[in-house]
Amino acid sequence: MDQSRIDALRALAVSPGSHLIDGQNVAASDGAIMDILSPIDGTVLTSLARGTVQDMETAITSARAAFEDGRWAKQPPAARRKVLLRWANLIEENALELAVLGVRDNGTEIGMALKAEPGSAAGTLRYYAEALDKVYGEIAPTQSDILGLIHKEPVGVVGAIIPWNFPMMIGAWKLGPALASGNSVVLKPAETASLSLLRMAELALEAGLPPGVLNVVTGEGRVVGEAMGLSMDVDVLVFTGSGSTGRRLLEYAARSNLKRVYLELGGKSPNIVFADAPNLEEAAKIAAAGIFRNSGQVCVAGSRLLVEASIHDEFVAAVVRAAEALRVGDPLDVNTHVGAVNSEAQLQQNLRFVETARNEGGTIVTGGDRILTETGGYYMAPTVITGVAAEATLAQQEVFGPVLGVTAFTDEHEAVRIANATIYGLAGAVWTSNLSRAHRMVRAVRTGVMHVNTYGGADGTVPLGGVGQSGNGHDKSLHALEKYTNLKTAWIKL
Ligand code: NAD
Repeated sequence: MDQSRIDALRALAVSPGSHLIDGQNVAASDGAIMDILSPIDGTVLTSLARGTVQDMETAITSARAAFEDGRWAKQPPAARRKVLLRWANLIEENALELAVLGVRDNGTEIGMALKAEPGSAAGTLRYYAEALDKVYGEIAPTQSDILGLIHKEPVGVVGAIIPWNFPMMIGAWKLGPALASGNSVVLKPAETASLSLLRMAELALEAGLPPGVLNVVTGEGRVVGEAMGLSMDVDVLVFTGSGSTGRRLLEYAARSNLKRVYLELGGKSPNIVFADAPNLEEAAKIAAAGIFRNSGQVCVAGSRLLVEASIHDEFVAAVVRAAEALRVGDPLDVNTHVGAVNSEAQLQQNLRFVETARNEGGTIVTGGDRILTETGGYYMAPTVITGVAAEATLAQQEVFGPVLGVTAFTDEHEAVRIANATIYGLAGAVWTSNLSRAHRMVRAVRTGVMHVNTYGGADGTVPLGGVGQSGNGHDKSLHALEKYTNLKTAWIKL
């Protein structure tokens, strides 16, 4: 990464943003805007259209018209593949520009943002572009005078609601399979992370995606997100975000057209370290990275560290060393390991969790404070808290910040019991040299993803989704295509 190029990009003014509807940049119907603050220094970066219910309805109408006339859905698969591949290439060609814009908006450290945002988004789009003409329907094993065909059809209009932690990566997890399957999409980015997604959507037009096939409406979740959820003309709603919003989306679907709703929600993922882990020093470094990168604003973050009692003190000391070695600061400095927290509100919430943990008997071994206040930005020291009881607030509720709670266990049975004692089930890990124990733990811990002797980094070939209150859908891999297609049976008498 070239610091001087990054600095040149950060010096550019960011033009006020507007919706992207039917291929056009349009302002809110009532002209309202909202200020966008940069978490780097707390200053106003630019403004965005503060969408209205009418704006969302216009975007959905545009998506519906695009779907019905077949301008995208009825193009030959090879033509659609070409457009998506061109889009992926454009994202890569503009990767640094997109990454810097996104970091100015959401605060992720640039090293991670470059890989996880444009890098990952381009890879995801390419994966689904390549897949779209390799997924077949089926012929049913019927009696001989019948032909039973099972078609896979696009659902129509997909509504996608995206959070702020990795907007391009998560956006592409929805857009890739939705568009590859021939649907039209209306995308609603998070209030505090819209800029890079808007730019990415403009590049889609440049790549040849017909106007109206991808529309972006910015604004507040409780206004435009709610309008999307309540629409009678959105067929499938895909969402990544908090459980409380997910609950609302299910209600919206029940109150409107019973649209299918897929939720990717939060987690309280257990990172379980046994005394026989192959390399404890390495495990400690990865455990620290697994919670502190992107200031802990990672859905699969290993936010609960469960350590076998016999190595507890030694292992915690190694994690603390790794945490204190992380350089927190300006996310656009290439030497920064941990950037800014996304917003003042999120930072305050993180600090409240630390206070509660202290009140409930936890010991703050490192961190716990807001730092770098002189910058005007939102920074927090990586925080390790020991003595966290399995039922404590910190062990039960998602912080979505750089706060690691540590709990000791005495044997495998107790480790499983503690690991499964939350409402969540998104991710987890087990560190052990014992192959049988590794397999037993993979089966016993109730999550959508289990890592063994590593944490994070699962690529697009495997699904990501939760169990319990971590959600009900899967992003990534060919399985994600199922959300964006309907099965249709043709029963033919021969
Ligand atoms: P959030 O629920 O506050 O917001 C997510 C999106 O929902 C935003 O675009 C927001 O504007 C919109 N929204 C808010 N209220 C709405 C409403 N009433 N109707 C419709 N839309 C509404 O979540 P967040 O704080 O942006 O994201 C953090 C959460 O996302 C964490 O819980 C995290 O674990 C989760 N997450 C999950 C995954 C995963 O794959 N499972 C990945 C990343 C983040």
